[in-house]
Amino acid sequence: MNHPADDIAIIGAGPLGLATALALARRGHTPQIFDARSAAASQTDSRILALSQGSRDLLELLGAWPAAQATPIRRILVSQQGHFGQTHLDVTEQRVAALGYVVPARHLTAALQASARAWGLRVAYDTRAKLQHADSTQASLQITHADASLHEVRTSLIAHCEGHIPDAEVALSRDYDQHALLCRATPATPHENLAHERFTPQGPLALLPHGSDYAVVWTVSAARADALMSAPDTEWLAQIQAAIGPHIQLTNISERARHPLGLRMRSQTTGPRCVWLGNAAQTLHPVAGQGFNLALRDAWELADTLTGAADPGAPDLLARYARRRQPDRQGAARFTDLLVRSFSNDQPLLAAARGAGLLALDALPPLRGFVARRMIYGARNF
Ligand SMILES: Cc1cc2nc3c(=O)[nH]c(=O)nc-3n(C[C@H](O)[C@H](O)[C@H](O)COP(=O)(O)OP(=O)(O)OC[C@H]3O[C@@H](n4cnc5c(N)ncnc54)[C@H](O)[C@@H]3O)c2cc1C
Repeated sequence: MNHPADDIAIIGAGPLGLATALALARRGHTPQIFDARSAAASQTDSRILALSQGSRDLLELLGAWPAAQATPIRRILVSQQGHFGQTHLDVTEQRVAALGYVVPARHLTAALQASARAWGLRVAYDTRAKLQHADSTQASLQITHADASLHEVRTSLIAHCEGHIPDAEVALSRDYDQHALLCRATPATPHENLAHERFTPQGPLALLPHGSDYAVVWTVSAARADALMSAPDTEWLAQIQAAIGPHIQLTNISERARHPLGLRMRSQTTGPRCVWLGNAAQTLHPVAGQGFNLALRDAWELADTLTGAADPGAPDLLARYARRRQPDRQGAARFTDLLVRSFSNDQPLLAAARGAGLLALDALPPLRGFVARRMIYGARNF
């Protein structure tokens, strides 16, 4: 079914805004998209994403899988620094081609931009959008262009994909006093598609195979991040090497960046003629690599819910969307929060419990299979 032009407006043309637009376009909608930044700005995004097989399947359906820049993860070693206990997840045991894929966010956005162009979707860059009014019949946005001129856009539904939650709308927030330091690290020997998730007293350290290097996501306290940002590459190399242990030798560090981390949950993910998705609904710590995977499921569910809808902003449809997404978003938030809080400390009792948990996981293939399936496909199979 075809809908009137511009029946949905999307705020934000990051990876989620574009994926949402494509998912809606596949269902016959013609969303228009606004982004405050330029089209080229996304190419400065330093985030590296671990994407599940479920996300790959969805991105392929959207014509936006960046195959050439995606490195498959074939094994994962989970361990903790300074204590016993570790477990392996393996593609052979799980009977899948990959446990996940490592993709730089900038390449993902470029693939989504290309697909959006192919679909003829309109993205207005350098254009800030602000909710102006919403009632039972329509919503309106105030649009501010780069030259400061203003105009109004009326629409049936506003999909908020702006990547953050204003303080006034946060229902639950947790400041872990952790920042993510990101870099590339070159291993002395080929990584053979083995990813490492290592829990240290300061926070988790992930080494994700990408190309012939590792993409490193290193969680440290804000104070340590301040000190390290002004330290030389050799200091990063020494400290990452000490945290990961001698079984991997790293020879070089490059492309350093930093991101503050925390948990923020929006109180309501829908309102009159508005829906909030992805980081605009829930911003998670990246420890379990859930953020964009979860966001993509938001986009997919929204498009599913609005299939064939004459009025995409109808309250019953938005209520159905919010109800369906609630278990997945709450589950991902709880899982992530539990991981961060129980693994980012050095209490002897907790360290022993963690070690026992990792040993149990290693000894029990069905339990390992459950964890692997959650990582590979997310909360449900597609
Ligand atoms: C260190 C780190 C590691 C991560 N690792 C993973 C991982 O391994 N796996 C995973 O799934 N997720 C991961 N994530 C989460 C993932 O990066 C995010 O979920 C995802 O990139 C967010 O995309 P987005 O499109 O929602 O937001 P953004 O990329 O922030 O895009 C939002 C866009 O909205 C625009 N915008 C904002 N306000 C307005 C406005 N008023 N008007 C117009 N435009 C506006 C902005 O200009 C921007 O372009 C990680 C995050 C971090 C910080």
